[in-house]
Order: sequence, then C-alpha cells, then structure tokens
Amino acid sequence: MTDVQALRVRRERLLGRNMSLFYDDPVHLVRGEGVWLWDADGRRYLDCYNNVPHVGHCHPRVVEAICRQASILNTHTRYLHEGILDYVERLTATFDRSLDTAILTCTGSEANDVALRMAQAVTGRTGVIATDFTYHGNTTAVSQLSTRMPPVGGYGGHVRHVPAPDAYRPLGGEGGEAFAEAWAATVEAAIAALQESPFGFSALIIDPFFANEGFPDLPADFLAPAVAAVRKAGGLVICDEVQPGFGRTGAHFWGHQKAGILPDIVTLGKPMGNGHPVGGVVAASETLNAFRKAFRYFNTFGGNPVSCAAAMAVLDVLEEEKLQENALHVGAHAREGLQKLADKHGLIGNVRGSGLFFGAELVLDRQKKTPASDIATRVINGMRERGVLMGKLGIHQNATKIRPPMPFSRENADLMLAVLDDVLSGL
Ligand code: PMP
Repeated sequence: MTDVQALRVRRERLLGRNMSLFYDDPVHLVRGEGVWLWDADGRRYLDCYNNVPHVGHCHPRVVEAICRQASILNTHTRYLHEGILDYVERLTATFDRSLDTAILTCTGSEANDVALRMAQAVTGRTGVIATDFTYHGNTTAVSQLSTRMPPVGGYGGHVRHVPAPDAYRPLGGEGGEAFAEAWAATVEAAIAALQESPFGFSALIIDPFFANEGFPDLPADFLAPAVAAVRKAGGLVICDEVQPGFGRTGAHFWGHQKAGILPDIVTLGKPMGNGHPVGGVVAASETLNAFRKAFRYFNTFGGNPVSCAAAMAVLDVLEEEKLQENALHVGAHAREGLQKLADKHGLIGNVRGSGLFFGAELVLDRQKKTPASDIATRVINGMRERGVLMGKLGIHQNATKIRPPMPFSRENADLMLAVLDDVLSGL
C-alpha cells in the first residue's frame, strides 16, 4: 500500500467518512513557500487555489509575528491589550468611515453567525435572504443559508433564497440594467414574502463578488437596485468578504467597493491571518452596540494577541509588497491568456473574474452553453497530475477556480496557462 493509500485509510478511521478530499489522486503536502507547495516525495506544485495563505505560504513576516507574540503573551479579550486595538484601527481605516468598529472571531462562519444576530438586534426581525448557490459557513444558523445540503428538518421559514446572479445566462435573457432590475425584483419578492411571515425581514446576505456562485462578471451598479429595496424595507445589507476581501480582486481592497455598494455589516475570514484562524465582523458602532446589548457575546480565542499580530503582519506585507497592485496586473495578464486559450479550445465558454480570482466556464456547446461539469473535474485532475493545483465551482460546478496566493507572478500565470493548454488539448 502506498503512503497516500495508507493515509487515506488512517484518515477515514480517525476522522470519519465523507470528509472531502481534493483530486482522484490526493496530494500529501508537507511544505509550502510563497506560491509553491511540496508533497512528501519532494514534488513541487504551483498553488493556483489557496487564498488563505494570502501573502504567500509561510511568509516569514507573518511567521515571525506569530512566533514573537506567542513567546510574549497570548490571552483573551477580557484583559486590556493594544494588539487588538492597533489592528482594528488599521483594519477599519480600509473601510468607509461609517464602518468603524469590529468584533474578531476565529472563522468566517462565526463572523456570519454574529452578523445575522447583529441584523436581528438592529431590526428586531429574523428573516434573511441569500442566493440559492451560496455558502456562508457551517454553524447551525449559517448553514441554513446554503442549499447544497438541505438541513435536517428542512429550512426554517425565515430563510428565502433568490437565484444566484449569472451574467453568462442572465435572468430574463438580457444583460445590463434589465438584468439588475430583474434580479432586484427577486429580492423584492423575497422581502415581501418575509414581511408577510411571522419572521419579518432582517437582512440580505451576499458575497458582493458571488465567488462560490461562480464569480459572474456583473454589470456596473448591478447591486444598487437590490440594495435600495433592502434599505426601503428597513433591512440590513451584510457583505461576506471572506472570499473577495483584502485586495484579492485587484482594483479594490474590498469586494463591496468593487460592486459600488456600502454595506451595513461586513464579515471577514480566510485570508485575514494568512492561515492563522482569524475572522471578523465590521460594522458601525451603533450596530455593534445593539448586538452587544441584545446578545451577551464573548469569544475565547477571537482577537487574541497572537491572532492580531498575524493579521497585522498580513496588512503590512500586502502594503509593502504592493500585492493588490500585483493582483490587478497579473490577474489581467492571466485572463488575457485564458481568453487566447478560448480561441483555441471550444470547451471554454466564458472567461471571467477580477484580480487574482478568475477562471473559465467550461461548456459542451457554446451556443447552448451546456455546462461541462464532468470535463471540469477531469481538467482539474489533469492539472494536478501535471503539478498545478486549482479547483472548480459555480452554479453548474463547471468553472475553473483560480485563486492563488497574492504574490502569484506573470511567470506563474504563464506556467498555469501552458499546462492548461496541454490538459485541454489532451482531453
Ligand atoms: N463565507 C464564504 C463566502 C466562504 O467561502 C466560506 C468558506 N469557504 C465561509 C464564509 C466560511 O468560512 P470558515 O470556513 O472560515 O468558517
């Protein structure tokens, strides 16, 4: 039995079944540096998937910050400490002035759980609207938002799903303003339904980049009519920035800034601590104070000095290494390359994305836009075999998910494109 097979058996025995594992031939990783990963046999892989090591795997600045603070003090937030204050000051400075306070958590799921309760505290109501192909996390409350695995006992009546926006197959068949209005109409209908229910309408929760939904290239101001409808109904807008935040989309530091909207609550996670578990909720002080008044809330690990040191180092590196700018330029270069591949391979139906979050939707027929979901799985596995790690996602699970660490270079992009060309040619 090979090392990989033995590990699989041991993993299932110790961690249980149905635990997801990437690739037909899983990768046993033992080391990472920058955009590279190494397996137990010493083979190197180009990481085009992982957004958690945002400033690069094992970035020495982040490692040093964690080690330094861990060797001095690590406690919780019921003692005074400057680390969390310095960090929240620096973090909130990247937002609109109205978003001036934060609660730190350990995961994105926790952050969304808190955000939902913040909206309840402010509105006195519990009804939530989310898209039908989203994922916002794994707590009991937050998993109600996801349609991938229906909750045991069914959905609570307080959750309404609207269709995930798909610019490749726009609602009503038209792009532009008509598409935005058609989508807003679905939000308005969900608001009306909730208002007629015992739950009332509390909040719309969206990833402003709709990453898990397949990162559609939406028209400018697409979200404006829906946001206006939410405000008119007295609801709150929660933006889940777990995926698009911290400069990932290149042109903007936050996904909601790219979308041109101002949310009431923003939730953070994944890239925030470069792998150290830190998440957060950013909101106006009145919103945060209403939450603390309605729910006695404390988080044992959230906001501890080591987490804050890690998160602060991430902001330092982003700035010093100009990684948002890098995402903008390398992302544009890579998308251009993907577009060239589309001229050669009919399988590529649509190239899209922003900054270092991009990909191609694979289709069997460009006219009919028939999703090539099984082929997408083969492509991802073919890439892995050739030493390039990426994933797939979207409404039809047929869009390649390319979301590498932010120091990803043009040379890295060219390598990924060459391998993809080779894999597509060999299908
Ligand atoms: N929100 C979004 C948009 C996510 O993609 C995820 C995780 N993939 C989460 C929230 C949950 O974050 P975590 O796994 O840290 O709880």
